[in-house]
Amino acid sequence: MSVPLHTLLSIPPLEDASRDPLLVSSHVLEWYGIHRRILPWRASKAQIPNPYHVWLSEMMLQQTTVPTVIPYFHRFIDKWPSFEALATASLDDILHGWQGLGYYSRAKNLYKTAQLIHTQFNNHLPSDVTLLETLPGIGPYTAGAIAAIAFNKSAVPIDGNIIRLLSRLYAVKDPLPSCLPLIKKLATKHTPKNNCGDYVQGLMDLGSLICRPRSPTCPLCPLKNLCIAYQEGNPDAYPKRLEKPPKPTRKLNAYWIENGEGSILLEKRPLKGLLGGMILTPTSCWDNSNTHSPELSCLLKACTLTLQPRPVTHVFTHFTLVVDVYGSSYPLESSNSIGPHSTYFWCPPSSFKHQAFPSLMKKIISSLQKTI
Ligand code: SF4
Repeated sequence: MSVPLHTLLSIPPLEDASRDPLLVSSHVLEWYGIHRRILPWRASKAQIPNPYHVWLSEMMLQQTTVPTVIPYFHRFIDKWPSFEALATASLDDILHGWQGLGYYSRAKNLYKTAQLIHTQFNNHLPSDVTLLETLPGIGPYTAGAIAAIAFNKSAVPIDGNIIRLLSRLYAVKDPLPSCLPLIKKLATKHTPKNNCGDYVQGLMDLGSLICRPRSPTCPLCPLKNLCIAYQEGNPDAYPKRLEKPPKPTRKLNAYWIENGEGSILLEKRPLKGLLGGMILTPTSCWDNSNTHSPELSCLLKACTLTLQPRPVTHVFTHFTLVVDVYGSSYPLESSNSIGPHSTYFWCPPSSFKHQAFPSLMKKIISSLQKTI
């Protein structure tokens, strides 16, 4: 007589999630009621969610982890507690507050959306997914997450956590991204009509605490009796992925130029493009051409090299940047030659704390501090 494998392995028999889609949400909601994470933007069981907090946290959490976001979230709501306060702040202040969070276009979109909510929506965030998606920086995932969490709407936000969890639950064999239509179908099928906010946050917490990318703690998972990957014994194998091509490398020169007063030459980057609106040391053009703007070429002609180049590497989403940082000095009497409308300006190191520096600038500074 044949013996079912799960009885030998002490694994309970598989329930049929595909036949009863509410099984998944009822297990997730029950688990979330006990194990929910306490997060500063999350309403407690007795509170009504604050849409401003939900929106702000979802914007910050794009491409960024919860522990990184928490101190930024606290600083933002202390300084700008409402859409109105954020909309009437200056973009430079917001970029300064955002420094270190990366993906700076999000800060600019945050500002644009706050201004729209202030001027066109009377400081009330819309609850409709389609309308949310028209706002800057809000794609389908963020719109769905905000609609579900802030307004308890039956929305289906699909992020990495949910893709991972559903692809394991059903042992989806198609690799990313071709499996996405199926994942979306499965997510829609399992989304409950009620309690959607708690359900979505339950999935987020499950993905982050239990169904982790590596070595998920399946024995603690409320879905283990429904999960095919767990029953197969290989959850790490999902979601299936195609091999990624290596990231291209771009090269750049950066110039740490000090004048006779000890001030450093900085550049405000153009608002559009990478690190838009942030402050950096002057650099060669970002197109691998090793050319310079005419104004920087003139400034460099007056400089004396004081330090051989130091390499700094910084990884962006689509490429790896290798920067050679040159140290040089600039004659004091020429410091006033920079025009009032120039993007270059002198800044004493004591005022660095007021500048919106991206992480790349912090790496440049620390590479020099090791050598100066
Ligand atoms: S049983 Fe394991 S693999 Fe399956 S959903 Fe739960 S944590 Fe993920």
